Amino acid sequence: MTIRFAALTALAALSVGTACGAQMLPKDTEVWTPEPPVVAPGAQAGAAPSDALVLFDGTDLSQWVATKDKSPAGWTVEGGVLTVNKAAGNIETKQSFGDYQLHIEWRVPATITGEGQARGNSGLFLASTGGGDAGYEIQILDSYQNPTYVNGQAASLYKQRPPLANAMRKPGEWQTYDVIWRAPVFGADGALVKPARVTLLHNGVLVQDNVELTGETVFIGKPKYKPHGRSPIKLQAHRDPSEPISFRNIWVRELAPAG
Ligand code: MG
Repeated sequence: MTIRFAALTALAALSVGTACGAQMLPKDTEVWTPEPPVVAPGAQAGAAPSDALVLFDGTDLSQWVATKDKSPAGWTVEGGVLTVNKAAGNIETKQSFGDYQLHIEWRVPATITGEGQARGNSGLFLASTGGGDAGYEIQILDSYQNPTYVNGQAASLYKQRPPLANAMRKPGEWQTYDVIWRAPVFGADGALVKPARVTLLHNGVLVQDNVELTGETVFIGKPKYKPHGRSPIKLQAHRDPSEPISFRNIWVRELAPAG
């Protein structure tokens, strides 16, 4: 009995000592390797860091093609700004991506007209999984004092999740989206292993917080997944009659898959 008591006492003393750090030194909890890679940040807020792939720097559409036939992207580049050509249809990146961080800036014209979904509608498809609007859409819309269904306003995950806040600037002013996209993972049999996740900051305001998607965006009905691999990033030429919106300063950083 005495021996057992002594053993228990010693064990208690050891665990208390460890909990208080008495047995450890500061260096015991220091990690020195592997060192994170050095990335030079952009010269000003929103500028591409050194390891980013620049998708649009104001000069040309060499990184983009038309979604419908992969011909040269027929949108307008003028004065460092890319403007939607609604007649030319959606455009998407030549390259395909898995997980990534994306920065994109967009502007609704100051002279915009229309209401609801017919006022500066476009979209950012985080993965283009086919023609037309196939993929996962973050809505782009003039949501400055322009009511619509909230899971279809700007910064919504369209028809899946409204934004946590309406961070819109007025028409005529530039808006920013900063996105973390974690692509869905599918097994060899095509079954969903891990759903997609999205984090979005709109003008620096957190509006989507690591949200799990229930599938691809659909206009009518419930979202559902279909298996796909690495995919292009797509921009929407919406067919509403309002004036086309513009983009600038688009860059992407590929991320290692989440653990
Ligand atoms: Mg849209």
